Amino acid sequence: MAVRSAMHRAGAAALAELLRFAVPAADQRTIPCSCGHQARHQEARGKTILTVVGAVKISRPYYLCPHCHLGQFPADVELDIKNTESSPGVRRLEAFVGQEAPCEQGRQRMKLLAGLEVTTKAVERMAEVIGADIAARQQAQIQLAMQLDLPIVVGDPIPILYIQMDGTGVPVVKKETVGRASKTEGQPAHTREVKLGCVFTQTTWDEEGRPVRVPDSTTYVGAIETAEEFGKRLYLEAWQRGWSRARVRVVMGDGSVWIWNQADLHFPGAIQIVDLYHAREHLWELARKLFPNDEALQKRWMMTHQHWLDHGKIKKLVTSLQSTPTSSAELSEKLRIEAEYFRRNAMRMRYPKFRRLHLFVGTGVIEAGCKTVVGSRLKQSGMFWTVRGANAILALRCCYLNGRFEDYWEGRRAA
Ligand SMILES: [Zn+2]
Repeated sequence: MAVRSAMHRAGAAALAELLRFAVPAADQRTIPCSCGHQARHQEARGKTILTVVGAVKISRPYYLCPHCHLGQFPADVELDIKNTESSPGVRRLEAFVGQEAPCEQGRQRMKLLAGLEVTTKAVERMAEVIGADIAARQQAQIQLAMQLDLPIVVGDPIPILYIQMDGTGVPVVKKETVGRASKTEGQPAHTREVKLGCVFTQTTWDEEGRPVRVPDSTTYVGAIETAEEFGKRLYLEAWQRGWSRARVRVVMGDGSVWIWNQADLHFPGAIQIVDLYHAREHLWELARKLFPNDEALQKRWMMTHQHWLDHGKIKKLVTSLQSTPTSSAELSEKLRIEAEYFRRNAMRMRYPKFRRLHLFVGTGVIEAGCKTVVGSRLKQSGMFWTVRGANAILALRCCYLNGRFEDYWEGRRAA
């Protein structure tokens, strides 16, 4: 650690020398100003920036426009340090630790791993700024994707491409839930739903015919937004992942109506599959209501009903629910709703057929994503998000987890 500190100090001194800009030559003392006039060179001005080797004082030429009095530092633009006291390297580290963990932990990691002293607030601010920038760039791409036909992504055909969608609540500050319906009636909602989607591929199955996901093939998109906005976001991601050259296309989710509306709209013709385990849970919930406190009867009822579900005999299941005698109005309504749920999703519950095709029947990938992408970063105790802040962190985190963090920084340099 002592050696590292010494190396940092030596590096900072060398960097300060490198970043001492010379006085511009006589023919380069004016540069264009955005107002249309010419800004004139004034003098060299100093600024201290935090770099990955510590604080460095740099000196660069300052230009002032006599017409509109706007000042500018062309060197700051070149070095990507305009209006900031951190170098791109430090900002990249701050964004990295900020997407990974709560910002106080991020501050500690900066100190331990990089030997840099920054504030928790700086990590938080930088993660949000970078995340918002990533989100804005994506939004521009989404607009483009909606306006024109996207260029075909070249590459080998993909045997099976999956899309899974889910929703998960994150705690938000009070102002973000004003006027919104809560899940439990009469109580204020404290959360907003993050819609999360993932895309992954499957090329093979194991000896027992079970599907095998290609390791590291999963990418995520997520935001607190309407189903319509989210649908476009997921469409772009699927397109970039090679939707157009997938031989078999599969969309999976639970029974939520918004999921299937978006699936029909953006991914027509894809095989739609309702998560088997969600469907089973619907049956268990009914069993508990039909036979309260009688586990033996619940299990017996489940034996036949789950058998029908697992074997795709949805018509039988629906008929049974519709003809279940009950004297309770509440229970009868519940049976009607559940019968409708299975009837509506019958085509998406052809599990024997899906198994024959060696497809997944569970949405484990997106459920794990809800934990790793959203839960571990945004649902820690004491966290309350603004929609803006949560969406910025989500954009940043997805960018990193999708392996596109370096591309983002390259894209910034090119811009
Ligand atoms: Zn000017």
